[in-house]
Amino acid sequence: MRAMILAAGEGRRLWPFTLGTPKVLVPLGEVILIEHTLSWLKDHGVSEVIMNLYHAGEKIRSFLGDGSRFGMKLCYSVEEKLLGTAGGVRQAGHFFNDTFAVVYGDTLTDFDLTAMAHYHESKRSLVTLAIVEVTNPEDMGVVEINEEGRILSFVEKPRYHQKVRKLASCGIYIFQREILNHIPDRDHSDFAYDVFPQLLKLNIPFYGYRLKPEDYFIDIGTPARYQRAREDVAAGRVRLRRARRAVFLDRDGTIARDVHYCRTPEDFELLPTVPEAIRHLNESGFQVVVITNQSGIARGYFTEETLAEIHRKMEAELSQHGARVDAIYHCPHHPNDGCQCRKPKTGMFQQAIDELNLNPRLSYVVGDAQMDIEAGKALGAKTVLVTTGPQRGMDITRAPSYTAGSLLEAARWITQDYETQARQLIDTARTEGIS
Ligand SMILES: [Zn+2]
Repeated sequence: MRAMILAAGEGRRLWPFTLGTPKVLVPLGEVILIEHTLSWLKDHGVSEVIMNLYHAGEKIRSFLGDGSRFGMKLCYSVEEKLLGTAGGVRQAGHFFNDTFAVVYGDTLTDFDLTAMAHYHESKRSLVTLAIVEVTNPEDMGVVEINEEGRILSFVEKPRYHQKVRKLASCGIYIFQREILNHIPDRDHSDFAYDVFPQLLKLNIPFYGYRLKPEDYFIDIGTPARYQRAREDVAAGRVRLRRARRAVFLDRDGTIARDVHYCRTPEDFELLPTVPEAIRHLNESGFQVVVITNQSGIARGYFTEETLAEIHRKMEAELSQHGARVDAIYHCPHHPNDGCQCRKPKTGMFQQAIDELNLNPRLSYVVGDAQMDIEAGKALGAKTVLVTTGPQRGMDITRAPSYTAGSLLEAARWITQDYETQARQLIDTARTEGIS
């Protein structure tokens, strides 16, 4: 399934907070809203996304690029003037396959989109709306459904004189491609006013998928709700994607003495300052992830079992000093195999990012060779070169963010640099009136 994120709105309700910052780029703690949204889509099998851009669109494009550092393909549909929600989808119509999702950019949610897609399919629905029960949904679309989930009425932004609980649309839709035939052939149109009421009139299959009680949903479009979203994130009420940061460590030449193929546990020797450096990173809230090319397996120099033994020795020695690595990834392939995991390719990093819920923008890659620096740059992480190994293939024109004489020096620089960045994010939020 492909998806579209609607990001062209001017965000007037969040003014003055979004004057300089498009809504999809607002921070939720350390995570940027769009980082969460893209990763949530990716979790549900969406790897190709189109975004429409209008207001401050260039900021979005320069932040996200082609999506490769999120492991996704991203493209953009630029609107010279605002086309509305349906008009924007119509302009991007060439991008969609048979079934596609549309997500409003100011939505923060963590529900099971895969389950919604199955529901959509089982109902043979043309349109399925994610819906949730809310109190006085005055700036949402309110729906009534029957027992089968079929939508009987849709009213955009109704007014209530007393407190009511109603089902309302979350701004997340799954469509069949035929929906494009129901979007008016003119510049500006909205689903809520111009398409959904028409579908009901024509008696076209149109369903609501109810979020579960444990699911989180909020539209961050007003200052009060944005504030609530930030509180909910801080309190852990959202299954926020990309919420953790890591230091990715190369092994040979960075953690361990480089012996040109470490074949037995006896060959393995930690470098000085390494346990202290890793403990410092553990205590500073970083996940510590070892990423290592081990082509010695493909070459027949040692086996997977021996490598596991070597790593058990490494972990035992670290734990004697109160240090731990959170995960180890290795590539067993030969350089000529053309695999996607061997550094400088980023396959092992991407796997760690997905499995450990890491945010590469908040992470660091440390190594002694050019391939480590290359991989870090491709991920959008900061990079540190340590001069404790043979520094294979170094290219001074592709410089790391920092060069350190030991892993401990690297670790100290990383924690300091990270604190500076975190402070800057808070300052930005403050000057834009967000906090
Ligand atoms: Zn590999």
